[in-house]
Order: sequence, then C-alpha cells, then structure tokens
Amino acid sequence: MTEPSQVLIVGAGPVGLVTGIELLRRGVPVRVVDRSERPNPHSKAIALWPRGIEALARFGAADELHRRGVVLRAQNYHSQGRRVARLAFGGMRRTRYPYALSIPQQETEAVLRDVFQDLGGVIEFGTSLTGFSQDGEGVRAELETGSARRTTERFGWLVGCDGAHSTVRGGLGVPFRGSSYPQQFLLTDGPVRTSLAHDEVHYFMSGAGILVVVGLPGGSYRTFVSAAPDLRVDDATQAVQQAASERCPVPIELVGEQRTGVFRVHRKVVDRMRVGRVLLAGDAAHIHSPAGGQGLNTGIEDAASLAWRLAGVRAGRYRDEVLDRWESERLGVARAVVGDTDWQTRMWTMNGWRARARDAVLGVGGRSGVLNRVVVPRQAQLSLAYPGPRERVGRLRTGMRLPDVPLDAGRWLRDELDSTEPLLLFFPGVGKHRRDVGDLVEHHRKKHVGIRVTAPADTGERAHRLLGLVRPCAVLVRPDGAVVALRDPFGDEFELDQSVRELTGVAAEARWVG
Ligand SMILES: Cc1cc2nc3c(=O)[nH]c(=O)nc-3n(C[C@H](O)[C@H](O)[C@H](O)COP(=O)(O)OP(=O)(O)OC[C@H]3O[C@@H](n4cnc5c(N)ncnc54)[C@H](O)[C@@H]3O)c2cc1C
Repeated sequence: MTEPSQVLIVGAGPVGLVTGIELLRRGVPVRVVDRSERPNPHSKAIALWPRGIEALARFGAADELHRRGVVLRAQNYHSQGRRVARLAFGGMRRTRYPYALSIPQQETEAVLRDVFQDLGGVIEFGTSLTGFSQDGEGVRAELETGSARRTTERFGWLVGCDGAHSTVRGGLGVPFRGSSYPQQFLLTDGPVRTSLAHDEVHYFMSGAGILVVVGLPGGSYRTFVSAAPDLRVDDATQAVQQAASERCPVPIELVGEQRTGVFRVHRKVVDRMRVGRVLLAGDAAHIHSPAGGQGLNTGIEDAASLAWRLAGVRAGRYRDEVLDRWESERLGVARAVVGDTDWQTRMWTMNGWRARARDAVLGVGGRSGVLNRVVVPRQAQLSLAYPGPRERVGRLRTGMRLPDVPLDAGRWLRDELDSTEPLLLFFPGVGKHRRDVGDLVEHHRKKHVGIRVTAPADTGERAHRLLGLVRPCAVLVRPDGAVVALRDPFGDEFELDQSVRELTGVAAEARWVG
C-alpha cells in the first residue's frame, strides 16, 4: 500500500487537503490520514481572502467556492454607538477578487476534497498517527485504524497538518510558545433579523466586549461575541443574543435554528516548521485569534508554498535547503499574522482614553484612505512580500506576489500560473520602448526545461500600464506566485539564466529564491 518515497499527510483539514492536491498535481504519491471518522462538520473559518482564493483558483476551485459562498464588500468599525471607520474592499487593486468570500469551512473543505479525489487521492478517515521516528532516508510512522489495526509504515516525508493539538508537533518535541486570551468567545450561525448589511462585516467595540456580525451564504449571519472568562454559558444562543442586544445600536434578533460554538483563543507559534523529513503546516504551526479571519488563509499558503519545493526535493531537482527557506519565510509570515491579530483583538475591548485614541486613529485612517490602502491589502495578505534581495521595476518587486491584471481575450495574468511549473514572463514594453520578444520566448523555451516561458497577450498595453512597465521586462515567478527576479530581457543573458537555474535548483549556490 505504501511506497517508501510517498509523502504522508496527517490531517485532512483544509491545509492537509491543499498539500495533498498540490503534491498530486506534481505527480507525487501521497497518503492522507485523518483520525476523525468523517469530515469536519463545523463552519469555523468563514473568510477567504483574495490571496487564499488565488491559491485555490490555481487548481480550478474558484468557481465552485464562489457558487457556495457570498461576497463581502466592506468592514465597519463601530464604537460608542456610531461608526468610526469603514474599510471598503473594492479598492483592492491588481486582483480579480477585490473582496472577501464568506464560505463556511466545511464547504471549503468539501470543495477541496472533491478536487483531491478527482486527482485520484484517497482520504483515510478513522486513521490516526500515533507515533513516528525518522532517519536520513525517511520516516517510520505508526498508524492506527480503529483500535484493532496498528501498522508501522515507511514514508519519504511526513507533513503534519494535524491542527492545534498536533501529534506531529508533539512527536518532534517542538514547543508551541505563546499565551491564551482570558475571555471566552461564543458564536452562532443562523438567521438574524437586522438592518445590518448582509454583504459587509460589522465590528461593534465596547469595554464590555466585541460583537462581530458577518453575512453567511443563504442569507444567514455569523454573530460572534466575547464574554467574561467566568461567565457560565448554559444556552449559547441566549448568551449571544443578550450580548448582541447590549452592544449593537440597531436591533438584532437571532431567529430560528442557530449552530453554536463556545471556545477559547490562543496566540502561539512554533520556532521550527521543519525538522529533517518532517514538516508542520497550518494550525499545527501557528494559532491565533480569529480577528480578521487569517488562520485558514495562512495555512493554505503554507501548503501551497511547501508543495512545489517538496516535490522538487523529492525528485532530486532541488537541494533540500529550499525547505529551510520555506520554513524561514513561513515563520516570518506566521509571526506577522499572530502580531496583527493580537493587535486587533486587544483593540476590540479597549476602555477609557485608549478607546478614544483608537476611535480617533481609526477615524483619521478611514477618512484619509490609509486603512483602505494599507490595512485592507495586508488583511487580504496581498501586500505580504517575502524577504530577500530587493529589485524593483515599475510596480513589480521581488518577493511580492505576482499581481493579477487583465490580459487580452478575458484572460488574467495569474492564469499563466495554472501550470505547476515556475514561470518566465516576457513583457515587450510599451510605445517607443516596445520590442519584439517572440524570438526570446522561443530561445528560452528551448533552453530551460521544467519552466513555462511565455509572453502575456497584452495588445492594448493595459497590463503593462497597471504593472507600471514601460521597457521590456523578464519576470521570473515561483510556482506559488512569488516574483523572484526582474531582468532586462535584452540585457545580460547569463544573469537571467542564473536566476532560472537558482529557481529550478540546478545552481550550485541557491539563493533565497528557493
Ligand atoms: C470560530 C473560528 C473562526 C475562524 N474563522 C476563520 C476565518 O474566518 N478565516 C480563517 O482564515 N481562519 C479562521 N479560523 C481558523 C481556521 O479554522 C483554522 O486555521 C483552520 O481550520 C486550520 O486548518 P488545518 O488544516 O491546519 O487544521 P484543522 O482544520 O484543525 O485540521 C486538522 C485535522 O487533523 C486531524 N488530526 C489531528 N490529529 C491527528 C492525528 N494524530 N492523526 C490523524 N489526524 C489527525 C483532525 O481530525 C483534523 O481533521 C477560525 C477558527 C475558529 C475556531
């Protein structure tokens, strides 16, 4: 059943599924086990941000997610009975998804399971990882199905996508450092009678606690409140209703059947995401407050940026240091996300002069457009850039995500990323600077194996303008969509080749690009 070079993925949550899909797309055999007997029935994460949607769109899941979800267009902050700031998502630029998609997590997981199974993947529900050991050649995993069947099997690699209480993290002895918030949090999902816009997020901040109201598919709402640590919750719906009525200046009435949850919130990050042949991704590596809806989105990117490297290392194309690069990049992102969500969570429940200062800052930020320009793209993870040597041409910078701009015939630039390979784009430039790049494309196609070389069709030069490109430019992009090199295509060919070799792992000296 198992071949020794197979990758074992522990956990069939969203992060395990994306890891499995991205590995299968690259021809890597995987086994996915989950200790639950059946798929997760809970709606936990409801916000998919543009970068997360883009990652899932790469394997064709976007249409189905949109069919099951509902678009959220703005985020409102209220305090002392009035709105202090409004963040409009529509101002997000260079993405075809300038909004958040509200979709319950069990729906997102169902879409991912379908993609995974269409690729031939099998999810082994009811199978737990109970222990493992590793050596230089692989990982020996102990798997238990029910209480009757225990096996020890050998794999090439193990990816722990097994959530906040990760067995894999425990087995590695990697500490999960951080702390917990004192409050408890309560949520209900269901029909609500209210005048609050259904396609927006509403935060009501007060010294008593936070109230968050968000539209869900089918016309219902998520209503989410914080509560005192010692509040005894016998009836979560009634407790949410009471807090909502106290904190919301407009009538809000939970009507009909509600799905409820009561939980605590933590902020914790590992200091290793890789130990030898064992990797940690998603909640197994970082957990934080649900403020801003970041956990699932961050985990999806962990998976997407891991899989192409792991596939390359396994195939012997990349040196395995590229996995250390993955670890340092993703730890940087995880720490930033934990910091941002912590700041937001503290902001929710400020009192006295702190609350007045917060409201003043939000008011100025909202009116001046700073929140729209800075906070929204950060929350959407669009402005997140990986560290490394900085090069800039027009609006393109190395380390950033490849922006998405319209091309000819209804195509978009990031459609070019649909393949599983790195991408080398040749932009011919505009006006008097424009040069024919056709021969260059042919030349580099022949020269570079395992890389997609193309010139985006942009006859109206609109994409050039949106990217700020005037002169011809060669843009090298990783399979996870990060820009790694910007070159003059008619300049030093050796330099361009060197960047390609570094990315495809052939170079003796790989830089940060891996
Ligand atoms: C109320 C709430 C609201 C949230 N809202 C948002 C939001 O709007 N946006 C957002 O991005 N994030 C949000 N999150 C966070 C999001 O739910 C998580 O980040 C996400 O579920 C992490 O996915 P994962 O695959 O890493 O882990 P999980 O979803 O926890 O999946 C882990 C899987 O591993 C399995 N497993 C565990 N141990 C073993 C073992 N030993 N052997 C085999 N299988 C095992 C489990 O059964 C489980 O299926 C929210 C969370 C909560 C609780």
